[in-house]
Amino acid sequence: MALTPKQQRFVAEYLIDLNATQAAIRAGYSAKTAKQIGQRLLTFVDVKAAIDAAIAKRSKSTEISADAVLQRFWSIATADANEIVEYRRTCCRYCHGRGNRYQRTQGELERDRAAHDVLVRAHQANSKEPHPGTFATMGGDGYDARKPPHPDCSECFGEGEGRTHIKDTRLLSAAAKCLYAGVKQTKEGIEAKLNDQHAALVNVARHLGMFEDVVKIKDGDLPDLTKMAPDELAALLTALRPLFAPPHLGGRGTADGA
Ligand SMILES: [Zn+2]
Repeated sequence: MALTPKQQRFVAEYLIDLNATQAAIRAGYSAKTAKQIGQRLLTFVDVKAAIDAAIAKRSKSTEISADAVLQRFWSIATADANEIVEYRRTCCRYCHGRGNRYQRTQGELERDRAAHDVLVRAHQANSKEPHPGTFATMGGDGYDARKPPHPDCSECFGEGEGRTHIKDTRLLSAAAKCLYAGVKQTKEGIEAKLNDQHAALVNVARHLGMFEDVVKIKDGDLPDLTKMAPDELAALLTALRPLFAPPHLGGRGTADGA
């Protein structure tokens, strides 16, 4: 049975935003009953076939496939956030200094020595200027903030100092590029933004039908665990256990099956 012109209009409108109610209104159906009519139209075999054909054609023309979308979610879910931002514990100024004393980089040492020389010359030119004393090299040069802490350091006791390091995002792997969502300037400094790995994993699981027997996830919402009946919750946990439980409890130990 061919579609009526009004049904054809509904199909065309539905393809714009995939909202059956709004599509029914725009196609000229009564706004009062648009919700019911929209839902009913979607169950008509001919309407459904027309929509499916148009979506398939659109996917082909833009080369977007469900596989590509799924692959992208999987990349987000499994990318290593450490590729983008690291929290490091590295040496303090005293860790590797000679005699456990304050250490500078070679450049810092040269600058400080030059500043000291200026004070010495000022004193030589005018004895009323105070003499700065002899220049103290203290722990010497060679400070490198990337080195690990020294376990015997008398200042930090081997704990070092915490530093946040954001990587050069031009050099990220393909998966990490999917996870990376830009940077933000805050009062405290630069903040790296990441896409939601948990949501991506849930999307993959939904696509694979992993939750279907257990609980319906409606309209993209996660189930509210506090509102689930005890038997539903137990069923959900049973379904998830193989994914997350450690091997001695019969699981795979990790969420990605690695
Ligand atoms: Zn130290």
